[in-house]
Amino acid sequence: MTYKVKDISLAEKGRLLIEWAERHMPVLMKIRERFTREKPLDGIRISASLHVTKETAVLVRTLVAGGATVTLVPSNPLSTQDEVAAALAEDGIYVYAWKGMNEREYYNAIGFAISQEPVVTMDDGADLTVTLHKLALGVKSNEVNYALETAGDRDFAKLISSVYGGTEETTTGVIRLRAMAREGTLRYPIIAVNDSYTKYLFDNRYGTGQSTWDGILRATNILVAGKVVVVAGYGWVGRGIAMRAKGLGARRVIVTEVNPVRALEAVFDGFEVMPMSEAAEIGDIFITATGDINAITLDHILKMKDGAVLANAGHFNVEIDVAGLERVAAEKRKIRDYVVEYRLPNGKRVYLLAEGRLVNLVAAEGHPSEVMDMSFSNQALAVEYIVKNRGKLQLGVHKLPDELDMEVARLKLETMGIRIDQLTEEQRRYISSWGLGT
Ligand code: SAH
Repeated sequence: MTYKVKDISLAEKGRLLIEWAERHMPVLMKIRERFTREKPLDGIRISASLHVTKETAVLVRTLVAGGATVTLVPSNPLSTQDEVAAALAEDGIYVYAWKGMNEREYYNAIGFAISQEPVVTMDDGADLTVTLHKLALGVKSNEVNYALETAGDRDFAKLISSVYGGTEETTTGVIRLRAMAREGTLRYPIIAVNDSYTKYLFDNRYGTGQSTWDGILRATNILVAGKVVVVAGYGWVGRGIAMRAKGLGARRVIVTEVNPVRALEAVFDGFEVMPMSEAAEIGDIFITATGDINAITLDHILKMKDGAVLANAGHFNVEIDVAGLERVAAEKRKIRDYVVEYRLPNGKRVYLLAEGRLVNLVAAEGHPSEVMDMSFSNQALAVEYIVKNRGKLQLGVHKLPDELDMEVARLKLETMGIRIDQLTEEQRRYISSWGLGT
């Protein structure tokens, strides 16, 4: 089997989507030109668990241009663009992805990615890396059993020892992998692409800021002007969402936080800050972006106004207590795509978007290509870096070297036609010396 997708006849539509993304990803396309000439990934087997979108397709084509063989599986059961999956499958990529997988199918896909015996893994949320480690370490779970159904009978300890390294796209994944490194469980080095400046300052903030609203608006078509918006978490993602809520005309934007510095930043940025238990009573639209579980608990939900809308832009499907909501709901109805109405025991109704999974990737198309251009240029350079430095990287979670990060910024500015100043020799000397004072 070389692919498993929803409908291969969607390929032509998918190719047009990918072409559209390519037009808006000039930095990655420059890297592709160089990869085509230099073939730095010649013979390298890559397995990637990333959102299967038109932007990811541009990255995959770039890796293939560099000489790699690529297997692509989803990093979320609901985020696959079926047209794109079909187009990549037709181009010979090993794709195992469709929109709306159940848990078993999702981990079957992860198992399939492992069955290709990658020497480089790419992850968004760390499900592939973690599952491979669980297999190698003999950890048992439902997820592992599902992965085993497709991973085949092989020596996973040997397989993992031949992996050069992996990349991680997102905050959540970096947190999981750092925990593995701390405990001494991690078996190969990781490049935390998320931690590049040209990733988190742009993708997490401006990417999520726009795509989250895109998802909420496509799903509901409600008016933001005049509404009270509550954003849980003021990390880079929460900042972007709160900033754009203001721009869309929200009457009040309330931020909830647990970190005093971030809470203070939110206040100085012009937002109201209060505990979720208070915000719950006044919000119209709630968006979670904390990276943790139960940012919105069942208690919070029971306090909400009739008609409150709940969406998640953060961590898997655990930031909102969906399980609690399911348990107590007196009635549940699908209102339109990605909008489910729950009638609570107190008679009020709340609306959960995208099953509490990432609303931007489920109900819209994820971040726009222009911002993924930078994230995925970091990914391409990270894979090249891992291959170049195989056997030399220390076990642990590393940043991509600053020169490469700066190079992405430089190229992005160049493709936007924006020029900047250079330090003069005098300035360079001044900032690197300590002798001159008042
Ligand atoms: N896999 C987890 C983790 C969060 S996903 C989950 O499903 O819950 C967040 C990541 O999605 C971001 O780091 C961002 O880079 C990525 N992303 C956003 N838009 C995307 C797009 N259009 N294509 C591919 N990846 C995208």
